[in-house]
Amino acid sequence: MPATGHVEICEVGPRDGLQSEPRLWSVAERVELIDRLIAAGVKHIEAVSFVNPKRVPQMADAEPVMARISRPPGVTIAGLALNLRGVERAIDAGVDEVRFAIAASETFNEKNQGAPIAATLAGFEAGIKRAADAGLRRAGIISTVFGCPFEGPIALDHVAAIAKRLAHAGAQDIILADTIGAAVPNQVTETLETVAKALPDDVRLGCHFHNTRNTGFANAAAALDHGVRLFDASIGGIGGCPFAPRATGNIASEDLAHMLRNMGYEVGADLDKLIGPKNSSTRRCPAWS
Ligand code: MG
Repeated sequence: MPATGHVEICEVGPRDGLQSEPRLWSVAERVELIDRLIAAGVKHIEAVSFVNPKRVPQMADAEPVMARISRPPGVTIAGLALNLRGVERAIDAGVDEVRFAIAASETFNEKNQGAPIAATLAGFEAGIKRAADAGLRRAGIISTVFGCPFEGPIALDHVAAIAKRLAHAGAQDIILADTIGAAVPNQVTETLETVAKALPDDVRLGCHFHNTRNTGFANAAAALDHGVRLFDASIGGIGGCPFAPRATGNIASEDLAHMLRNMGYEVGADLDKLIGPKNSSTRRCPAWS
C-alpha cells in the first residue's frame, strides 16, 4: 500500500556539499545552484555558513550569496552558525533558519569546533536564544551520532543528553547526523527511539545520512518507518567531511526524492528539474502506483 503524507527534504548541497569540494565555487556559481534548486521546487535549503572563512574558505562570502539569491515565499533559507558572532551575521544576512552543529564525539567536536562539547553547548544556548529572539527558526544538528572516526561507537544516552540540551535551549528541529556513513537500519531505529524519549513532543526529529557504505537510503527508510519526516540530502550526493577521513557524500536529494515519490510520499520538488534535462532518467523510472 502506498505511503501518504509530506516528507521534507532539506537540501544541504550548497553548504554541506560545497564545503567538501576542493575547488572554491564563486559567489555567482553558488547563487545559480541555489536559484536552480528553488526553481526545481525545493522548499528548504541549507544555503550558507557563517563560520570563520579562514577555517572553511569554501564558505566565505555568505553575505553576498544571501543578498543575491531569489527569496520566493514558502522557501526556508538556512545558514549554519557555530557561535554568537555567526548568529549575528546570520540575522543580518536575513536567513529564515539558523542551524547549530555539534558533535556527539568529544574528539570530533574538538577537531571540528576547537572546543569541548560542554563549551560548545554553553555557547549554543546563547546563540539559539538570540536566533529565537530574532524570530528565526532553529535547528540543532548532532554529528557522529552513529559512530565517530576517532572514538568509534557513541553511547546513546550521551546523544540523547545533547539533544535534550539543544531542545531545552530552544532548538525546534534536532537532526541526527551519520557523518561518516556508518549507520545501519536497526541502529537508526534504536537511536530514534532513545532520543525521542528525551525530547518534548513539539520538537521535530530529522536525519542526515551519508552513503559511505551504501546504507544511507536503507537508513532513511528505517527512519521513515519510525515517523521521521525531515531529511537532509544533497543534490548529486555531494559532500563529505573534512574532519572525517574517507567520509563520502550525503544521500543524493534526487535519489531520495525518487524513493519517497515512488513510495507514495509528497516531496514538493520536481524530480526532472532536480536531475536536469540532460540526465533525466525518470521516463524510464516512472512513478510507481
Ligand atoms: Mg553531510
